[in-house]
Parts: sequence; structure tokens; C-alpha cells
Amino acid sequence: EDQFSESLEVPKDKLLRGLLADGFDEGSCVSRYQSASYRKELPYRPSSYLISKLRSYEALHKRCGPYTESYNKTIEQLKSGYHTGSLDCNYVVWISFSGLGNRILTLASAFLYAVLTNRVLLVDPGVDMVDLFCEPFPEVSWFLPMDFPLKNQFDSLDQKSPHCYGKMLKKNSNFTNSDGSVMPSFVYLHLAHDYDDQDKLFFCSQDQTFLQKIPWLLMKTDNYFVPSLFLIPSFEQELNNLFPRKETAFHFLGRYLFHPTNVVWGLITRYYQAYLEKADERIGIQIRVFDTGTGPFQHVFDQILACAVKENLLPEINRQDFIVSPLGTPKSKAVLMTSLSSGYFEKLRDMYWEHPTVTGEVIGIYQPSHEEYQQTEKLMHNRKAWTEMYLLSLTDVLVTSSWSTFGYVAQSLGGLTPWILYKPENRTAPDPPCQRAMSMEPCFHAPPFYDCKAKTGVDTGKLVPHVRHCEDMSWGLKLV
Ligand code: GDP
Repeated sequence: EDQFSESLEVPKDKLLRGLLADGFDEGSCVSRYQSASYRKELPYRPSSYLISKLRSYEALHKRCGPYTESYNKTIEQLKSGYHTGSLDCNYVVWISFSGLGNRILTLASAFLYAVLTNRVLLVDPGVDMVDLFCEPFPEVSWFLPMDFPLKNQFDSLDQKSPHCYGKMLKKNSNFTNSDGSVMPSFVYLHLAHDYDDQDKLFFCSQDQTFLQKIPWLLMKTDNYFVPSLFLIPSFEQELNNLFPRKETAFHFLGRYLFHPTNVVWGLITRYYQAYLEKADERIGIQIRVFDTGTGPFQHVFDQILACAVKENLLPEINRQDFIVSPLGTPKSKAVLMTSLSSGYFEKLRDMYWEHPTVTGEVIGIYQPSHEEYQQTEKLMHNRKAWTEMYLLSLTDVLVTSSWSTFGYVAQSLGGLTPWILYKPENRTAPDPPCQRAMSMEPCFHAPPFYDCKAKTGVDTGKLVPHVRHCEDMSWGLKLV
């Protein structure tokens, strides 16, 4: 399209060291091969095993994706409710659910699960997925066709649905269909934050053995469940081979899967070029306040500033003098803030306008949008959200808010280990205000605490050194 003229270079490592497949039409998704020129070189290499697994997934997807012969055959089976012997292709359907940050994390989780179980991932387009993300797999779409037979059931699928895995276990059903065939043709996996002990058995090896026989798995989740996949013995070796450095799991999955569409790429690149590109250093500050009330709150502002100054991300201001002459050429820092509210941004901008910095550094403060409240189903709102997560991922240092998947996406895509702002209690800024994360990985907010073998509770954050409790949520799990 016009706004991306040919003068824009395609970078040398446009395939991200083999992570991406070659041969896509570049114009239909400019970000795919251009994103590398907006980032420093990848700090880590994808393993050759990961690369070969992705290429074989792509081949599987091409053979089994929408409207292929194999797909049509399994759809016929699904319609008839019949399911005998094993099929050529098995599927996991990701159902659009929750905020955009959550969706990006769960889609990556579902994809990794598909890779581990030789399934084909199909994506419910919801209202905005097509508008936000390019196709990641060559030739055959990842979007679930509109005429998928179970589509009109998606909204009503919940823990009470007869096909819900947890519900099936509770009924202690022997999984016999009404027509006498032994296996149901589909199972609904409820992996949302409110899931119960039976639903959580998804994370047990023996349950995975059963699920292997089901051709269609429909999944609704708002959680990054990858850390718990690392605790399933049957996946362990494979995951070790895919990710010798565990903390790169989402980083590589995300860089592989999520390419902004041209409309979003325009929003990203225009903003980057206008406000961020020329600075000597870029600092991202992601503010997400889960408190009730509209804000902005003084204690949150105090905390942001305290963190940034204490960790030497931003200089102090000089309240005595009007002019401070730097030694040599002043360094410029561009601060990208994201928040639903504009209050924090305005205060910080005014502060660095009204006073010189003690170091003479020049500080520019920028915030692309202030949407005031979370909205759903509005294209421009979600385009801005995706744009801002992506812009944050292009910064050099990052400050994020506790509990926010919006921040997790930014840090992991960017390969950044952020400073996390502690969650304020009783409307006071915590001291210390922030802490450096252990790794760039997102936190799994609702992990199971169950030992499948011993059939008892267990602290799953203490089983292996690479799955630990999160910095920002004591009961969460993350890879380090
Ligand atoms: P989380 O709730 O912080 O874990 O992140 P989600 O992305 O899942 O849900 C929050 C939603 O609120 C986003 O998808 C946006 O729609 C909106 N939102 C929250 N913070 C921001 C922000 O800083 N900028 C923009 N544009 N939208 C935001």
C-alpha cells in the first residue's frame, strides 16, 4: 500500500534468524519483514529445534487448515457427531475472549499447546482479530471459517456446558456419545481464571492422554498457561528442546505469531518516527491502575517518579536554578507513557518542562492516547491498544504495572526485563516503589496447585528452578 514506499529498507535479518518463514507477500503485511529494522538485534537465538518445529507446523497447517481436503473431512465428522478411529488432522480452536493483552498471551499459549500435541490452531476472529493481526502461517489462513458448525455455541460455552471437560469429569461420564460411538467429537476446555479443580486436570499427563483422542478441542482462556505446560512430564523434554532458554518462550512465540496489520503498522511507525526514533534513549512507562475510582492518583504518580529516579531511568529536576548547563552535548531521552488516563503524562511532562534536569539531559514525554476506560468491540480502540503495546516493546528500558498483561506483552515482545511497579495498597505508594523482574516472561495468574501423581495439593512454584512465583503476584507462576 502507498504509505509504505519502496524506499523503506528491508533489514538484513528480516527473518529473525530463521524464526519467520520466507516467501510471504511483503506488501500484504509490511510489519512482518520490516519489524527487525525497528529493533536492536535479537538478544537470543531461536533454537534450531524451534525453527524446524515451526516449519513442520506450517506444513501441517497447510495440509489441515481451513477448507483443505482433510479439514472438510473432519468437519463432516463433526457435523455427524460421529467419531470413530483416528483422523488425519486434529484441531485446537482458540475462542476470542477478554482484553487484548490477555488474548495475545492466550493465543501464544494455545499455539504452543497445538505444536506440542500435533494439532492445528484455528483462531476465532471475534470482532477485531483480522483487523489487528496478519496471517502468521504461509498460504492457508489461521482464522476459523465463518461457517464452522459450532460457531454459534461459542458465547454459551462455559463450565456448565455438557462438553466442558471439567463437567464431563464431574459427571464421571464414560464419554459415550448418544449414538454409541465412544468418543465425543469435541471437548470444551474451560481455562479461564474462574476454572475449577476438574477443569485444572487439563494440566495432568493422564488427562492429556485422553484429550489426545479428541479431534476438536475448543478453548476459552484469559491466562498465559505456558508455565504449567513446563510442569507436565510428557511435554518436558520437548519444551526443553524448543526453548533451551526458558525465559524466551513468549518472546519467540510472540515474535513469530503477532505481526501488526498494515493499518496498525502505520500507527506504530508514524508515532515511532515522529517522537521516539531520534532520542538517544527510549524509556517506556506502562501505567495500569486496577484501583476503583477514576484517577489520576497522586500516590501512583509519586510511585512512578520514585521508581524512575531511584533506578536512574530519569534524572532529578533542579528546583533552584532556571538553567543548568550540561557538560558536553546534552543527552536526550524520550519517555513513552501509556495509560487510559492522561493525568500522569501531563504531570510528568509539565515537571520536565517547568524545571531543568540536574544532568542537563533533555526529557521528552509522550503518550499516544488516553482512552479513559477499557472498551470492547471498537476497532480503533483496540488498534491503539495493540499499537501502544508494540511501541512499548521498542523502548530500551521499561517500567510496567503489576498484574497487567498489557505490560507483559510489551516486555516479552521487546526482550526486556522490566522494572515492575508494586501494586499500591491503601492508596499509598509502596516503598521500594518498584523491583526488577527476574525474567521477561509473562506471569500465569491462575495456575493449578496440584500434584497429578500424588493427587494432593503442591506448591507448583517450588518444583523446578525454571518455574517460579511471580514478582507481582505471589501465587502466579512464571518461567525464568
Ligand atoms: P490488562 O487488563 O492490563 O491485563 O490488559 P488487557 O489488554 O487484557 O486489557 C486491558 C484493555 O484496556 C486493553 O486491551 C485496552 O483495551 C485497554 N487499555 C488498558 N490500558 C491501556 C493503555 O495504556 N492504552 C490503551 N490504548 N488501552 C489500554
